[in-house]
Amino acid sequence: MADPPKQRARLSSISPRSLAVIGAGPAGLMAAERLAAEGHAVTVYDAMPSPARKFLMAGRGGLNLTHSEPLDRFLARYSGADGRVEQAIRAFPPEALRAWAEDLGQPTFIGSSGRVFPMAMKASPLLRAWLQRLEGASVVLALRHRWQGWTSDGHLLFETPAGRVTRSCEAAVLALGGGSWPRLGSDGRWVPILEASGVDIAALTPSNVGVRLSWSDLFADKFEGHPLKRIAMTVGAVTRRGEAVVTRGGLEGGIVYALSAAIRQMLDAQDEAKVTVDLRPDLDEAELGKRLERPRGSQSLSTFLRKTAGLAPVAVGLLRESGKPPADPHDLARRIKALPLHVHGVMPIDRAISSAGGVRFTEIDGRYMLRSRPGTFICGEMLDWDAPTGGYLLQASFATGAAAASGVCSWLAEDAKPN
Ligand SMILES: Cc1cc2nc3c(=O)[nH]c(=O)nc-3n(C[C@H](O)[C@H](O)[C@H](O)COP(=O)(O)OP(=O)(O)OC[C@H]3O[C@@H](n4cnc5c(N)ncnc54)[C@H](O)[C@@H]3O)c2cc1C
Repeated sequence: MADPPKQRARLSSISPRSLAVIGAGPAGLMAAERLAAEGHAVTVYDAMPSPARKFLMAGRGGLNLTHSEPLDRFLARYSGADGRVEQAIRAFPPEALRAWAEDLGQPTFIGSSGRVFPMAMKASPLLRAWLQRLEGASVVLALRHRWQGWTSDGHLLFETPAGRVTRSCEAAVLALGGGSWPRLGSDGRWVPILEASGVDIAALTPSNVGVRLSWSDLFADKFEGHPLKRIAMTVGAVTRRGEAVVTRGGLEGGIVYALSAAIRQMLDAQDEAKVTVDLRPDLDEAELGKRLERPRGSQSLSTFLRKTAGLAPVAVGLLRESGKPPADPHDLARRIKALPLHVHGVMPIDRAISSAGGVRFTEIDGRYMLRSRPGTFICGEMLDWDAPTGGYLLQASFATGAAAASGVCSWLAEDAKPN
């Protein structure tokens, strides 16, 4: 393992300052690490009894840290950030994140889809090593401290089990997360606090979220939790290939998340969004039709479609959900290749992987500092950017955390200059 940050050469020549980071998720902890490496006295506050709960949850099904695709393609995944997240990622790109993880004793590997995971798959070993590093750099973790804003004389105000306390610092980084999965800590309760300070915030809305469909009881009872593998889904002009999972009230999973922004937009304008599913995207319609011309004999439709078209029972169930399957083989092929689904909503924000919206980029300067509140910096998912799943959310959270820390250092350095 490399030297802990405390022992690394300090990059700036400013004297140590007392700094606050609020929010112990990936963005806040990265900011804290960078600031401590500069020799500052850093306290990280978090409302929860333990740090980085969402990060740990993200590791449950395999922690997708980042993605290995070429940087230009990677950067094109972000929307709403006006090039600012892209800048932060260029300064702390996926290779730097992988090297950082390796430095913490957690080497990574590239999965078949190009996604990057730690070898251990889970987030807990990485977080353990990270917290140890931060402790070695004298970063103080103050848990059960819910930030509530500022006092009239500019001190930070926290609600703690012992009552309200105030803390002073020379600069503060806010890394309070978005609004999804609020029980993990990031509940968006910071929105009215910042709005009351005059900060313009785009409403937090669910992103990377499942969609609502009205299944028959028969289908939901039989197939809830079943994956629809290797399908393609189209919304308007956008098609994605991958996997979706049937839920009691709709669909979740990678391709659904990838299309959720387009679906949400459609639902803003109309009551329903039409989604088309191709259950055999790797077979063209004519070839599929030819296969379906084979005599069915005494086989059930399900067995016939499994043998001739390679459809799993859940796919046949889905086919049946859209009405009686056509008897003509070519009509049936057409239906299998373009199965219409009528989405009537997206799941609520507390079931979303991430949220879109947040502090608008017009509110912060090039150093990630609030224009209206010098000395307060913003990073992570609480900023107004959006991205699909695939490692893009964590990469941007880490990278903007690092960018905000650089911003703090340049602001302190300017402040230290003689007039
Ligand atoms: C189930 C799930 C799986 C995911 N999987 C992946 C994945 O594999 N790959 C990926 O890239 N992304 C994934 N994500 C998204 C990713 O976890 C988030 O984008 C990322 O954690 C955001 O980091 P952050 O530091 O900005 O905010 P958060 O991780 O949300 O951290 C914010 C912190 O601020 C604290 N806080 C909030 N308000 C206050 C307050 N008022 N006072 C004090 N503290 C406060 C919270 O307690 C929290 O600890 C997943 C998300 C979920 C829900």
